[in-house]
Amino acid sequence: MSTSPEELSRRLVAVRLAMRDQGIDTALLSVGHDLPYLTGYTAMPLERLTMLAIHAEGTPQLFVPRLEAPRVSEVPALFDIVPWDETIEPLDLVAESCSGSSTIAIGDQTWARFVVGLTHRLPGVRWERAVGIVGDLRMRKSDAEIAALRAAAAAVDEIAAELQSGQIQLVGRTEADVSADLSRRILARGHEKVNFAIVAAGENAASPHHHPGGRVIQEDEVVLCDFGGTMNGYCSDITRCVVTGEIPSDVAAAYEVLMAAQSAGVAAGTNGVACEVVDEVTRQIICDGGYGEYFVHRTGHGIGMEEHEDPYMVAGDARLIESGFAYSVEPGIYIPGRWGLRLEDIVVATDDGPVSLNQADHHLHSVRS
Ligand code: ZN
Ligand code: ZN
Ligand code: ZN
Repeated sequence: MSTSPEELSRRLVAVRLAMRDQGIDTALLSVGHDLPYLTGYTAMPLERLTMLAIHAEGTPQLFVPRLEAPRVSEVPALFDIVPWDETIEPLDLVAESCSGSSTIAIGDQTWARFVVGLTHRLPGVRWERAVGIVGDLRMRKSDAEIAALRAAAAAVDEIAAELQSGQIQLVGRTEADVSADLSRRILARGHEKVNFAIVAAGENAASPHHHPGGRVIQEDEVVLCDFGGTMNGYCSDITRCVVTGEIPSDVAAAYEVLMAAQSAGVAAGTNGVACEVVDEVTRQIICDGGYGEYFVHRTGHGIGMEEHEDPYMVAGDARLIESGFAYSVEPGIYIPGRWGLRLEDIVVATDDGPVSLNQADHHLHSVRS
């Protein structure tokens, strides 16, 4: 998605307001997603410094290596490009532009070598994390951002439907092979990038972030698939499980509980409710079902330009849900040594309540392929 100049300038105004409210004189943003969120430009995560300096007043400056400057499309009046030559130390330029700033906020993903270099050049400055000024803004997605998330979700829903209808061969293939197959389908459906394609069979499914390997998928086992990528700059993320044969009764019983927990978790996310309540709701149902000790992770994470971003649906995240929040609801039940189940949708908060962007069928399918 290429963000309109109007939207970029609206974001910059909002960042400056947050800076003023929080007494921050300068924000410094480097690699990571805050920079493209505010400028439309994604920096190479290299050793060469790319940094946007937003001061309380004046046009923000984007310091870029001269060789990268042609990749930046300038947005006049939004920021100035300051290309630096290989023969100079760019941190000196950034530090100079910060003279007079007493409180500076810096992006979470800035390389330590730049942070340390700046602290040495700017003694006496109070440092804060920029997540406090950009993160809140990024949590509230605009209509265009939600449209991008919706399109990405629809694309992976189609792949989930293929999985559930047995169109993706499982038995006799390795997890890694099926993972590569899912990855090809993600790209074929318009994503520019695959972020992950977890395929976990049988006892491997009991490990939530299992790395697909050489294990050959057998008949009559649970196969957990959790996959997603980036499409027009925004992420998809979906989990569906299937059984390659007859569904064992213990798996069916656990899945009933999981499905009830997941749908209750989605429904719980109304505006004004704390993020952690979504986690409480799914966890309570799974505990009541007798599987509490087997639900070993948080219920969900925010999603947007990054596959995991603020907010988090977990105890301790007391932020109140607002229209535009986008996050996963993905409870799981994992029985070590046997099998694992997870069910994941991406949900968007609206004035009319939570809306699930993923529409793929929620039941556990038996596939004979
Ligand atoms: Zn994850
Ligand atoms: Zn996932
Ligand atoms: Zn997820």
